Amino acid sequence: MANPCSFCKAECCKSYTITATAFDILRAMQRTGRSHEEFASLHQARLLAFDPDMTLDMEDDSWIYTLGFRSHPCVFLKNDRCAIHDCAPMACRRFPFTLAGELNTRFCPIPSQLVFRFRSPDVPADKMTHELEAHKKIVKEWNKKPGKKSECIGFLLEKARAIQASVP
Ligand code: SF4
Ligand code: SF4
Repeated sequence: MANPCSFCKAECCKSYTITATAFDILRAMQRTGRSHEEFASLHQARLLAFDPDMTLDMEDDSWIYTLGFRSHPCVFLKNDRCAIHDCAPMACRRFPFTLAGELNTRFCPIPSQLVFRFRSPDVPADKMTHELEAHKKIVKEWNKKPGKKSECIGFLLEKARAIQASVP
């Protein structure tokens, strides 16, 4: 039987807020060759009601970093296909499990039992939890220092790179 997602026009990539951690951004940069300045100019969505530990303080406002935001499709969605499939953010690779570990097929046009059968997450839960915790620590560090919006991505990436390099 064909993967039911192949009959869908990637509604999940168009409908959700696609949260990217510092590690996700780093992998996507390494894979696409885009500079961190380019990532800095992509989505940064104001989302105060989200997990406060993932919210970045930017001057007088608070933001999370996203690749897509509500009605804005993900920046890596091309012809309804993911252009960075092999290094998509954890949030995508774990879907239909949310970052909080809940099941969510709200925007799926396909019955959820079928989607779950074909979309077993390809990242183990403990790896995602570990990375999320490391990301939240980086966010806390950023929030403690006076920082300009333009410096934020550079700061996140420098910290993520150091952690990535220290993992054997
Ligand atoms: S997970 Fe759901 S919304 Fe996403 S491509 Fe598959 S069927 Fe479509
Ligand atoms: S990174 Fe890929 S899988 Fe994730 S939302 Fe964007 S297009 Fe979809």
